[in-house]
Amino acid sequence: MSNLDLRPAPHPCGGNGRTGPVRDVQPGKQVPLGESTVVRRLLPNLGRRMVGAWCFVDHYGPDDIAGEPGMQVPPHPHTGLQTVSWLREGEVLHRDSLGSLQTVRPRELGLMTSGRAIAHSEESPAGHGRLLHGAQLWVALPAERRDTAPAFEHHADLPVIDGGGGLSATVVLGELAGAVSPGTTYSPLVGADLTLAAGTDARLPVEADFEYAALAISGESEVDGVRLAPGALLYLGCGRTELPLRADSDSSLMLLGGEPFEEKILMWWNFVGRSQEDIEKAREDWMTGTRFGEVHGYDGERLRAPALPAVPMKPRGRVH
Ligand code: MN
Repeated sequence: MSNLDLRPAPHPCGGNGRTGPVRDVQPGKQVPLGESTVVRRLLPNLGRRMVGAWCFVDHYGPDDIAGEPGMQVPPHPHTGLQTVSWLREGEVLHRDSLGSLQTVRPRELGLMTSGRAIAHSEESPAGHGRLLHGAQLWVALPAERRDTAPAFEHHADLPVIDGGGGLSATVVLGELAGAVSPGTTYSPLVGADLTLAAGTDARLPVEADFEYAALAISGESEVDGVRLAPGALLYLGCGRTELPLRADSDSSLMLLGGEPFEEKILMWWNFVGRSQEDIEKAREDWMTGTRFGEVHGYDGERLRAPALPAVPMKPRGRVH
């Protein structure tokens, strides 16, 4: 993989600071998730906090979890965001404080809107398959919708676009090339699963006023001339009307994009707020067992909130 684009520099686009397309490979890092899973965290990273309203991107696997617990994330709270569960292999059992109990399988959308408060757990179910491979993503809610009612949606039937030249795209969330996911959104954005057959040479129509990033999920592909190995995130900026995609072998990507999110947000632990007070109150409410409700049926204790940082936290924009 080329590292010519390893420049964690800000590239403002949208608003007054518009710039054109860029090709920046974003550094990810290994992060433990729960007790038995390690994920690659692509957003936020050293140079960038958001792509559109997408504010958190983890890619995990493919992991062989035969005879192992697999994913075991105990009950924990969220505020001010939506979570997107997207699997390529395996299954994840979702429980939440609304009483939802849903197995999410490959190519199905698990979409949880925390709104003002929700709690959930995620686990590899008993008798799970051998492989676990997927992505966990968050979307920040705009200020006027961040206190919306919590909800969980499961969509097994998502629109698929034939992009020609070997490309097919499943619209996971938002809109792509006129196809719209049934998942509820609160700002203009897209999340799509791109499948590139061996020999793909295609140009995917995209929105000039969206910023985009491509997350390589499997195989080796080329996005706007940049070769990507699985787990790499390529930030693309905005100003494109089409995105060139190539692959010599079968491969897949997630395309994430949206209107640049102009609000400053404060992300800490599992909360998206607008101020230190928001975060402190959410933490306190979780620790005192108010606001978030109970997740029933998970075999284990709920997560305790970590200590707040000693230094004050400030809301920040989408680039560092
Ligand atoms: Mn969560």
